[in-house]
Parts: sequence; C-alpha cells; structure tokens
Amino acid sequence: MSFGYSGKILRVDLSSKKITTDYRDEYFYRTYGGGSCLGAYYLLKELEPAVDPLSPENLLIFTGSVVTGAPAPGFSRSAIVSKSPLTGAIGESQAGGFFGSELKFAGYDAIVVKGKAEKPVYLSIRGWGMEIKDAAHLWGKTTGEAQAIIREELGDEHVVVALIGQAGENLVRYACVLNNLKSAYGRVGMGAVMGSKNLKAIAVRGHKEVELKDRETVLRLAKHFSTNFKEESPDNAGLNDLGTAQYVIGQNEDGQLPTRNFQTGYLEEAENLSGQKMKETILVDREGCYACPVKCKRVVKAEEPFAVDPIYGGPEYETITMLGSNCGIDDLVTVCKGNELCNKYGLDTISTGSAIAFAMECYENGFITKEDTEGVELRFGNAEAVVEMVGKIARREGIGDILAEGVKRAAERFGRGAEKFAIHVKGQEFPAHMPRAKGQLALSYALSPLGADHLVTEHDTAFVPGAPSFFSDRVKPLGVHEPLEMRSIDHKKVRRFLYFQNVSSLLDTLTLCFFTFAPVRYFTFDELVELVNAITGWQTSLWELLKLGERRVAMFRAFNVREGFTREDDWLPERMFEPIQTGPRKGQKLDKEELKKSIKLYYEMVGWDVDGVPTNGKLAELDLFWIADELAKAKGE
Ligand code: SF4
Repeated sequence: MSFGYSGKILRVDLSSKKITTDYRDEYFYRTYGGGSCLGAYYLLKELEPAVDPLSPENLLIFTGSVVTGAPAPGFSRSAIVSKSPLTGAIGESQAGGFFGSELKFAGYDAIVVKGKAEKPVYLSIRGWGMEIKDAAHLWGKTTGEAQAIIREELGDEHVVVALIGQAGENLVRYACVLNNLKSAYGRVGMGAVMGSKNLKAIAVRGHKEVELKDRETVLRLAKHFSTNFKEESPDNAGLNDLGTAQYVIGQNEDGQLPTRNFQTGYLEEAENLSGQKMKETILVDREGCYACPVKCKRVVKAEEPFAVDPIYGGPEYETITMLGSNCGIDDLVTVCKGNELCNKYGLDTISTGSAIAFAMECYENGFITKEDTEGVELRFGNAEAVVEMVGKIARREGIGDILAEGVKRAAERFGRGAEKFAIHVKGQEFPAHMPRAKGQLALSYALSPLGADHLVTEHDTAFVPGAPSFFSDRVKPLGVHEPLEMRSIDHKKVRRFLYFQNVSSLLDTLTLCFFTFAPVRYFTFDELVELVNAITGWQTSLWELLKLGERRVAMFRAFNVREGFTREDDWLPERMFEPIQTGPRKGQKLDKEELKKSIKLYYEMVGWDVDGVPTNGKLAELDLFWIADELAKAKGE
C-alpha cells in the first residue's frame, strides 16, 4: 500500500472521449515526485518536438504531488504543465487554493488531458464517478458565472472548479486558469491551452482523506506551525496581516518597485498601493488555502472610483505592481478592479500589466496612436485606460488583439524598434522584481526555462550582510554560509543560485508553498524531510529530495533544447543594461560581460555543455539517461 499518493493518474482524451487510468509505482514517484517534474516526464515521453501548443496534440497536465493534500500548512498547491503558447518552451503554472488537495481526495495524483473536444465541455470528477459534460452554455461566460452554473448543475456548492474565462476561450497567449475564482494558475498561458481543447472547466469533489503513514507527526508539525508562526517567522506574520502587499513599501524604499515599464524602481506615491492602505480601506476578509492558517489571500470590496466584486478576491504584490506602479498607477481601487477583471476573464495579472505598460510606453513614444487604440489615451497613470485595456485584451478587441499575443510578438508587430520596450525573457513578461537590483534574480530571470520567473530562486534580499540570522541559519544545511552583496553575480553568487534553484525546484516538484518553507519561511529543511517521511513512509533525506529539484531543472532544459532553444535565449532585455532612471537605485544597471561570464560558469556547475545542453554524464547521474538520444538528435549528432 502507498501513503501520500494513490499511484493513479487519470488520462482523458477529449477527441475520443476516452477516460483511462495509469498506475505508477514507488520508483516513479520517488524519481519524479509530482508537480512539473511529473508533468515534464509526460511531455518528454509523449509529446513530439515542435508540436503547436494550441493543437490537440499538446498535453495539459493538472498535478499535485506525493504530499499534496496532507493536513499541514503549504501542502495545498498544484500545478498545470504543458507546452506554453506564450514561449513555445515548457510551461508550468502553480496555484494554491483547494484544487490540488481535492484532486487527491478524489483518489488521483494527476490528470493528463489530450486531444480536443468537438464542442465545449467540462469534466466532472467526483468520488462516485466521472463524466465529460456539455459546456456549450458556459462558453462566453465569465469565470464567476460559469462556476455558479456548474455548482448548481452538480447540486454541490463545494465542488472545486478549475476553469477558464473568455481570455482562455479566445486563446490569449497568457490566459490563466482559476480555481475557486481567486487562486490563479497564472503564468505561461495554460488557460489558452485549455481553451484550445474546448475544455471550459474541471470540477472535482473528493470523499476520502489522503492516507498518511504517520498522521500524528504530520498533525504535530502542523500544530507547531499554527501556534508559533506569528511569533517565530516575521515574514509569515506579515503575510497574515497584510498579504503579499506587505512587500510594496520595502521594495519601493529600496528602489526596487517596477515602475513605468521598468524604467525605474521608485514610485513617489507607493504608500497608496500598500498592504496597510488596503487593510485600512477596502479589505473585507483574509482567506487561505487548504489547511493553512497563514491566510495570506486578500478579499477586497470597493465602490469608488470602480465597483470591485469580492468574489474575485484581492490583489497580490505582483498584481499591485504590474497593474499599478508599472503602469504608473497609484490608486489601489484601480488595481483591484484590474485584478477583478483579470480573474473574471481569466488573464494572468502579471503579463496583462506588463502588456499594458509596454503599450503605454509605445504610445508615449509615438509607436502607436489614438487611432490604434480606438481613442484610448494610453498614457502612464491613466486609470480608465488600464481598466479598459484588460477587457480589450480578453476579448481580443482592437489593439487588445495584438497585446493578447504577449509583448514579444506585439513588439515584432509594431516594429521600428519597439522591442526595446518589451520587457520579457523567452517571450514571458517580467514579474514585479528588478534584476538590476538583485544579482541572483538576474541569473534566475535569464536562465529560467519558463521565461522570466520570480520563483526560480529565493531572492538576494534575505541573504545580504546584516540580514536577520533567521534566514542565514536556515540555509546552513545547504553548505551556504556567507552573506553576499545584493547586486553581485560573481562565482559565489552563481554557486548560491544553483543551490537555491534546486531548493525552489524541489518545492515546485512537491507543489509546496514557498511561503511556508525554508529558506525564508517557517518550516526548516529538517521539518520538510520529516513531513515527507511521515506522509509517505519513505526514509528519504534532504539529499534525495534536492536531487528531485535538480532532476526537474535538467528535464525542463532538455525539453527546451528539443524545442530549439539555445544559449542565446538565456538573456535579459536591453533595458536591464541601462541605468535605473530615478529613486534610491538611480544609475544602477547590469554589466553584459559579467552576466555572460556568470551564465557560462553556471553551465559548468550544473553539468551542461558550452551550448547549455545537459551532458550525458549529468543525465545519467540524475537517472535521466533515457533523454540522451533525443538530445543528441536535437544537437544534430
Ligand atoms: S501561505 Fe498563503 S499561499 Fe501559502 S498555503 Fe498558506 S494561504 Fe496559501
């Protein structure tokens, strides 16, 4: 008997309407763990190279991990994995909420969807049966409307629904998938893949808790967390009080708050966007994910200048920044309205904010005119324009149709050098952090297989000279002992990036919440290992778990090599080599030669050749030798 996981992976072919089950053993789960590592396994094994991400051949994988659904803080998350229509690379997006745990309660570790339904459908998976159901009446509905109808049809107020809005139906390349309307699988366009399959939603309801080998230990550690996190973990306490919006003021004071399309890192009126301001004015509730007392999710309600519906939750730090300061907006209600609309239509708030900011800079520099925008005065700081553009993008209306393609393709379309305003890596728009201020972050944006991604590694901030010892003590088991200057990207920083990347990759593989684990938050590495052992009954170690993270990184790289990505794609946009314009970090910029040298050194450290291709030795060491032939083919050998 297995503990923590069921060993069952559901296979749904929407073209043939066939539903089957894959049965997997302990070797499989100890090697691939879950999340995007498990997803990458299926993509590498079953997807032909160069498949159009929006074709029926692409796979769409919903997956928790061997530990998802255990009753402890941070074990709620799940991932969606597919080839991304935004980047053409491997795509992964994670969300908290309740979908991952509910899928486990329904008896499945993952769902692999392929094909395309003839007409819109939704999938109902409930402990007592499953069905592919007609969704013609749901097509064109907002996420809120569709969820309400599905719950009514199934006669179940508590069924957990992962679904797309009009943006996914319209194949916006950064459309997202929402669960319970508030938790977004935001990045890399998983909503567009779902839309391309005519799949409006997956509704899940389980009826059985996850089997645990040692329930007592899991509950003891969960209680330990709940009782102590506010006193013992400053970051977790702040998340509870102010949500991720707690970071706005600190980021701004340090000159790191992306503002006006990353021209600067400082917004004079940032106080207006702060977590404190939200708490004092429009916050109506705090919510959390399954079994988590941190409750870092915000619920907001407002009437003026825009009415904001609380059923769509409230904005995270990333949203506040990308729809706020990065668009020159200093009004929190405008940001909340943008957030509501993104969740209603199913759009990634980060890429949406970035696309609008890009268009604003193009407008201000004469690359597009009022004629192109159908009369919208698309200038930084125009609140009405931000709100209007969200709808235009979701509906692919007018200029929204071009921006729906993402900033890389939009810049190609505008031409005349508009590329200099397109802030992306590998086609994915930047999240709300400044590589010019953080060396480790610069490496992670440049090297991320997903395109610019802020969750590839913990950021430099907590590990600089003078930072609280709470953080540095936690990373000693990794062999990381020295604080390093924020902006350095020398050999020591590359080493630390590599180690931290494996930790983040491990958390992604086990679909664990970054906000509850080391290196920065409450649970230590020892507790992580203890929890995995108590859940699964394995006798694992930090070493074996970190290998899971490393394996995922290698598999992602292998997938991208197969798709034609090269070392040229491991790079940052030109703006990162230009000085920050204002604020405390005025004048700071990255050095191209230094970055180039560090990337080369990283390839050597991680076991890739000079072209960034994993070597056979490294593949064998990670028990991935089965990929070697395909990589050789991709290299023309
Ligand atoms: S810390 Fe926040 S995001 Fe993470 S599991 Fe808890 S409530 Fe969810």
